[in-house]
Amino acid sequence: MTDAAVSPPVRRLSDWDAAELESLADEYETPLYVLDLERVRENYRRVDAAFPDAEILYALKANALGDVLRALREEGAGLECASAGEAQRALEAGATGADVHYTAVNPPARDLDWVVDAWADHPELTVTAGSEDTISRLADRGYDGRLCLRVNPGIGAGHHAKVRTGAAAKFGVPAERAVDVLEDATERDFDVVGIHAHVGSGVSSDQLAAHREFVARMGDLARRVDAAIGGDGLEFVDVGGGFGVPYHEDEEPLDLESVAEATREAIGEIDARLAVEPGRYFVADAGVLLTGVNTVKRARETTVTGVDAGMTTLLRPAMYDAYHPIRNLTADVDTDGVDSSDAAVREPIPQTVAGPICESGDVFCSDRDLPASERGDVLAIGNAGAYGYEMASQYNSRPRPASVVLDGDAVFLSRRRETVDDVTRLERETRTKRGPRTDDR
Ligand SMILES: *Cc1c(COP(=O)(O)O)cnc(C)c1O
Repeated sequence: MTDAAVSPPVRRLSDWDAAELESLADEYETPLYVLDLERVRENYRRVDAAFPDAEILYALKANALGDVLRALREEGAGLECASAGEAQRALEAGATGADVHYTAVNPPARDLDWVVDAWADHPELTVTAGSEDTISRLADRGYDGRLCLRVNPGIGAGHHAKVRTGAAAKFGVPAERAVDVLEDATERDFDVVGIHAHVGSGVSSDQLAAHREFVARMGDLARRVDAAIGGDGLEFVDVGGGFGVPYHEDEEPLDLESVAEATREAIGEIDARLAVEPGRYFVADAGVLLTGVNTVKRARETTVTGVDAGMTTLLRPAMYDAYHPIRNLTADVDTDGVDSSDAAVREPIPQTVAGPICESGDVFCSDRDLPASERGDVLAIGNAGAYGYEMASQYNSRPRPASVVLDGDAVFLSRRRETVDDVTRLERETRTKRGPRTDDR
């Protein structure tokens, strides 16, 4: 184990420096994403130490900021891309073809066209197909490169029904069809290199039994595929991501060592290399969202703390009922070093922290005890590094926020704040005549 492996398994919201965050909010304004690259590296190194022989891919849909991709690539991560757009960003961040796995989920033609074009320049890239139809569509485009098959193991895991993919018919070829499909692909001259499954997000220590069973099925399948396709057999068996992080303050962090041990045991003897592809685990606790308090309203049953971030900035609470820790940085800075009996200490009162969007679902928490908020306070929402900015939208014509990166003793604006001009930029007035499309158009 390297020294880096001893970094703490979780960074809590309370571990962040309140005064520093508050001054960032001052300088760059709110809402503002802050991401600490050194924490991203620490998270990567812990996974690398737990899975020393595995190929580690970062599922970049969790946070595709170029600075994150470059940092993880420097650590040795490959990149798992869920779309042609992500694959393009991966290559633009300096990834080589061999670093890129493109996982085609019901891929639009435009995506397949792009990837097959990119393959001409990057013949080492890997395409993971989740249906026989996708394999045919690749063949139609002349693709016979590295092919991995996503299988549906019929087992789901995860923190919410919307992220349990393992049993959802949308994802992967039914495991019992996999051998036939790969035999067929081998005959069609594809370079069959792997099998893949991702059973969902939020794998936790108490779901280890399900993880074990899933991995055992993948090991069995790998042995059967090897026997069927001949040649060098499979190069890798990818068991997906989904490593959970503790969103609640009292939740224990994932015991990576026991997940790794269970994985090694359950997969059994295989010639192929193990691959894992966490997204959330690398970035979640490396990021916070800073938001300013606009309005404080005493309502009948609660106090509504209106903030300038909303579901368009961080969608997870509205979409998954996700819990995110919230901290009043201003109250913490004000009371730092102050005796708890002092008047400066703000009493906690139940608060509903709500965004500025015209939707009743636009709340970050309901009736949560937080130090009494005041207009102008800065709140930090924790564990916002994963699936935060990536799911942001411009709904209500809200420009998306800026992202600031901390890197050792450096701090910089990694992505500027959008303006309303950015929101309207795509509108145009070119008019053409209606009617069926003609070739000369
Ligand atoms: C989303 C996704 C991941 C990463 O999931 P996390 O929960 O962020 O670890 C990995 N593989 C695939 C195919 C995915 O779609």
